This record gives sequence, C-alpha cells and structure tokens, in this order.
Amino acid sequence: MAKLHNLGFPRIGTNRELKFALESYWNNETTEAQLHRVADQRRQENLDAHQYLDFVQVGDFSLYDHVLDTSFLFGNIPQRATNKDSNVLSQYFRIARGRSPEDGCGCSINAGEMTKWFDTNYHYIVPEFTRNTEFSLNPATLLAQVKEARGQGFDVKPVILGPLTYLYLGKHLDDGEALSLLDKLLPCYLELFELLARTGVEWIQLDEPALVTELPAEWRIAFKYAYQVLRERRVKLLLTTYFGDLAANRDLVCQLPVDGIHIDAVRGRQDVYPLADALSKSQVLSVGIIDGRNVWKTDLNEALSFLAPLAKRKDQNLWIAPSCSLLHCPVDLDTENLLDPEIKSWLAFARQKLAELRVLGKALNEGAESVAAQLAENKRIIEKRALSARTNHAQVQQAVKNIQPSMYSRTSEYPDRIRQQQALLSLPLLPTTTIGSFPQTAEIRQARRAFRAGDMEQQSYQARIRDEIKFCIEQQETLGLDVLVHGEAERNDMVEYFGGLLDGICSTRFGWVQSYGSRCVKPPIIYGDVSRPAPMTVEWTRYAQSLTAKPVKGMLTGPVTILNWSFVRDDQPRAKTCQQIALAIRQEVLDLEASGSAIIQIDEAALREGLPLKNRDWAEYLDWAIQAFKLSASGVRDNTQIHTHMCYSEFNDIFNAIAKMDADVITIETSRSDMALLDAFDTFAYPNDIGPGVYDIHSPNIPDEEYMIKLIGAASKRIPVNRLWINPDCGLKTRRWSEVTPALGNMVSAARTLREKYSAEVA
Ligand code: ZN
Repeated sequence: MAKLHNLGFPRIGTNRELKFALESYWNNETTEAQLHRVADQRRQENLDAHQYLDFVQVGDFSLYDHVLDTSFLFGNIPQRATNKDSNVLSQYFRIARGRSPEDGCGCSINAGEMTKWFDTNYHYIVPEFTRNTEFSLNPATLLAQVKEARGQGFDVKPVILGPLTYLYLGKHLDDGEALSLLDKLLPCYLELFELLARTGVEWIQLDEPALVTELPAEWRIAFKYAYQVLRERRVKLLLTTYFGDLAANRDLVCQLPVDGIHIDAVRGRQDVYPLADALSKSQVLSVGIIDGRNVWKTDLNEALSFLAPLAKRKDQNLWIAPSCSLLHCPVDLDTENLLDPEIKSWLAFARQKLAELRVLGKALNEGAESVAAQLAENKRIIEKRALSARTNHAQVQQAVKNIQPSMYSRTSEYPDRIRQQQALLSLPLLPTTTIGSFPQTAEIRQARRAFRAGDMEQQSYQARIRDEIKFCIEQQETLGLDVLVHGEAERNDMVEYFGGLLDGICSTRFGWVQSYGSRCVKPPIIYGDVSRPAPMTVEWTRYAQSLTAKPVKGMLTGPVTILNWSFVRDDQPRAKTCQQIALAIRQEVLDLEASGSAIIQIDEAALREGLPLKNRDWAEYLDWAIQAFKLSASGVRDNTQIHTHMCYSEFNDIFNAIAKMDADVITIETSRSDMALLDAFDTFAYPNDIGPGVYDIHSPNIPDEEYMIKLIGAASKRIPVNRLWINPDCGLKTRRWSEVTPALGNMVSAARTLREKYSAEVA
C-alpha cells in the first residue's frame, strides 16, 4: 500500500484571508487575539483539505515566513528585537518588518534581510549568526499545533527545516562560519525530536533542499556528521529534498542514516530508480510526482505507469506526494469563475493537486479500475491540451522557423551605433533619465480598477491616462531631465500588463501566490504559443512624444522577465517559449521605432533570478536568455538606441553575459549597495553605455546633490565619463511625488555640476 502525504500548503487562504488579517493587525485595527483567530481558521481549513492523506503535515503554516519561524523555534532571535521587553509576536514582526504594532510609528529597527527561497519567487528572512550565537528550543507553538491536529485524529507529520539547510541559508554578521555553529544547534534538534516522540509522533519531515545545490566539500562532510549525531532519536526522519535532482549529492543522501527520503520526481526524475535501488527495503522512498511549482494538471496515466513498478517493489514504503510544498501554487482553481473553460480544464491549483494525489493513491492501492473514470477523463484532457489550437498556433510556429541568425544581432557594432545615435539625439554629457514608472497615485489605481471592472468607459479611461502622461511629461520637462518616459500609468504590473495583451497568456482573478509575508503576486499563465495581436504600448508612447521635443523612451518588459514571472507551459522547453515571447516583443519594438521612438528600453529585471540552482546549468540558461533578449532588441536601425534595465546590484558573476546582450545603454541598481557593483569593473571592462543608479528608490529618503556627485565620481573612476548615464536605481511607482520631485531635482543638478567639471576633460 503506497502512502499519501503532502509537504506544505499555501498559508494565505483562498481569499487571502491571512494577508488581510495581518495588515489590519499591523495597522492596529485588530488585536493579537483576532489575528490568531484568523490563523486558527486558516490552519483548520488546511487540515480539512488533507483529510484523505495518510499524514497531515504540521509546522508548514506560518504567520510570515517558515525560515523566520525556524529562527524563533531554535531561539536565534536577533537582540535588537528583544531589547524592548515585549511579547514574542512583537519580536517576530520586528524582525520580519522592522516594526511591530506595539512600537507605534517612528521607532523602527532594521528588519531582517530578505532573499529568494532557492529558485522560487518566495522570499524568506535570512537567519543571522555570529560566533556567539547560542540556540535554545522554543517548541510551544509547534507542539500546540501538533496537539491540535492529533486531537482531530490526524496522523501528524511535523515539518522542520533541517539543520544544515538552516545554517546554509543564514548569514554571518562577523567573520565566523555557519558550520562552526552546528554542534550548538544539533542538541536542540534532538531535544525537539524527543518532545515530539513523547506526543506520539512517528514521522518527522526534515527539509534539506540545500541538497539539490552544488555543496562545497565541507558541507557534504557536515551532512554526514550531523545525521550521525541525529541518530539518537525515537522518531523516524523523512529527509526531504526538492527543487531539483541530487546530482553529485546522490550517494551522500543514500548514505545518511534516515528512515526515508523524499525526492522531487518532477525536476529530478532520474534520481528515483537509482534511489529505489540504493535504499534498504525498510527505508521509505517518497516520490514527489505532482509538480508543486506549476499550475498544470498532472498526466495521471503517465505518472501511474512510472509509479506502478515502484509500488510493487517498495509496497508500503512507497510514499507519494507533490514534488515540493504547494506554497508556490495558487490555492483553489474552483474560484476562477471567469477563466476560459478550455484553459481552466488544463489546470490544477493546490487543492486540485491534492485531489490528483488521491486518485493516484487509489489507483496504486486498489487498482486502476477503481478510478477508471477519472483516469479516462484526465487522458482526454491531456490529449486535448496537446492538440488544441491555443497550444499550437501555426503562424507562431512558422515565425519561429523563419528566424534567421542575422535577427539576433544589430547591423553595426556598438561604437558605430552610438556615434549615429549621438548624431540623432544630441544628448549632453552624462545624460539624465529615469527607469520608466512615475508615482502611481490612488486615483490612477482607482481609474484602472474601475476600467477593468467595466465601471468606466474606454474613452474616459484613455483620457484619464493621457492626463497622467501629460502631467508626467510636464514634470520631467520642468525638472530638466534629458530622456523622458511616459510614466507607465496604464500598467498595474510590468508583466501582467503585457500578459494581458499577448495571445497565449492569460491572467487569473484569484491565483495569488505568497511572495513574502502578506505580499502576494498573481503570475500570468503562459498556456500556449505566444503572439502579439496588436500594438501594446505604441499609442501611449506616441502621445507622450507628441508633447515634447525631448526624446521619450519607449518602455517594454523583456521576454526573459515575462517568462520568469509567469507560470510557464510545461509541454515544451522554456527556451522555446521565451523565443516566442521575444518575437512578439520584437514586433512591438519595431512598431515603436516606426512610430517615432528613437530610444526603446526593454526591461530585464528578472533575468538574474532565472539562474538555475546549479552552476552547471548556468551557461545554457544564459545562452538562450541572452539570445531571446537580442532577438527582441536587434531589429532596429543603428541609430535607434536600445536600453535595458536590471534591478540588482550583484551581477559580477554574470557580467560577461550582460555585456553580450549588447544593449546600447544599461541602467542598473547600484546606490543601495553604495556602488559595490562597480568593483566588478576592475576586472571586467563593460563595453557599452551604463547608468549605475544614484537614487535608492526603495527608501523614502531624498538623496542630496553632494551624495549623488560622490557616487558618480566613484563610477567615473571605472567607466569613461562619456559612457555614463545618470538615473535612479529602479522605477518610481512606489514613491510619492513629494519625494520624487526633489530627488530628481538634485539628480539633475548633480549632472549639471559634473558636466561642467568633466566637459573640459572629455574635450
Ligand atoms: Zn528595477
């Protein structure tokens, strides 16, 4: 008998109940007790959703982040949170957000750093370590949740982040090393295991996703050591890995003295049979057969034929589950009442994935006949999807076939191009510009919402957006910026906007996925061949240009970013989907050029975060991603200037690839890291124009002229002044005009001051 279990479930709720409860608690509109009431309901709903599984996982729920929960579980709470004597929840939110409701306004502390959870779009709070870090167990919350679920008759499997992955994800504030803390940490795990054993828990899911990364030798040794130490226990451990194959760590994993191993059979299918061979008969093999990172229905018949021989071999020691926690999926497809029925029939969100698991379990345990109808229906849908005209768009496929190698590069090299562009644009030395968006006021959001809901006529909506564009252009003229933008008032989100206008991509109404804390994103779904039925931005840009004699930059989201921030079809390589999007963006670029845009920016904000977890896979990804960008950008004349923008300051390791994109100008986040990015220029000479951001738009602070002059001065030591641009770190949509106007005013003054200083040198 195969057993069914799950690794984790979305916390936020079908209607984002937890998000709203958190936000009203933070705003002091509700009490701690009210917040807990919503959290209790959310957990109860999740328990109910797991009725038919052999185990229910406990400990995957979190008020903010499970890594921060782990820090609290093991007493690793930064001192700045505990200085003010207060309750644990206040301490927790201080680290999560820099403040807690009981702090009132104006006395925030530094929030914990946030970073991406492996290669997902979920962000966790980075654990902080020093040489003196001590751990102590705070098991009350976890034990209470175990009790809560056991009390209802569930077989409970607590989920705990494993000791090595916990240390691996943290950062050291002094020159100590994470592994030196292992001996202090392990006793807390043993103590916790003992407490859980006493409550009657049999199995613990110990998550060690670090095992799918390329681990340095000392970490591999530490894994062996730690799991030897953890042998002294009265519970069974399911060592749980996900997000990839085990690669070089496979032997290591098989040697660890644990009672079972879970592997991601979607991304690491090649591990399944070798692991089945390597594990002893009594060890559990848990196969993550349902994709926890995507929204597509599982091909149940295919899954079943893969699993059936294993079920024979392993009998009750075969467990089946989603590949990873379902945290990364939207909650419930049933709420999508406006989705095209054909597309909807291809999808499965978290709840539907649990239902699929149940069908698979029944087929394995009671024979395929017992679920014959479900299997037949699944087969019909999978086949229909493969043949659907939405999936296969003949014209798009022909256009991809027609791509010529010459379409991937510009006609001339950068030095030639930039000369021609200069002749056309006559920009001053150190030209000033912005990244695209201007403040999105409540009125603008309101207008967009009303239009979407059908409460505002197309004409009045367009008039409203035009007014906003006009206002933005006037502001930029007054400020004296050199290259203007239309301000992006028509866009709610840089990916969703284009997703809504491209064929082959659709949006959901409620397909929210937690990004961090109470923040959720609603990724578009790329379901079929992608094409552009009509121009998407040309009218807005043309209108903006009609208002000014200065150049207005056309503003587009690049193919790699659209891909990386969407749910992507799983029936063809991502590279191919990206190429289709690139062709669609290329058409938009050409239409912008034809309508008079002399400068076009193609944002690739998410290029870096698409990097695979394993270094071995980087070159291949970068190769197709850069090619896709170039395909989108290279159709223009030499004298049309292509900009790109990226918002991260760590790109030393992919500098080479970024140079290969061959954009005429790149603007990039730098000020937040005090120009640390520029160190990269010591070893790599970036060949084209570059605008290192001088204004940290994530902060409400208004940088003064002197500060920006200093940053540009630092930049000019590495990059010739005639290739430098002056701009903020990123778009301004989250800022207020009262911050943006003075900051940009200072930026323009800084540019003018420096122009005088340098023009002598350059001439
Ligand atoms: Zn940015």
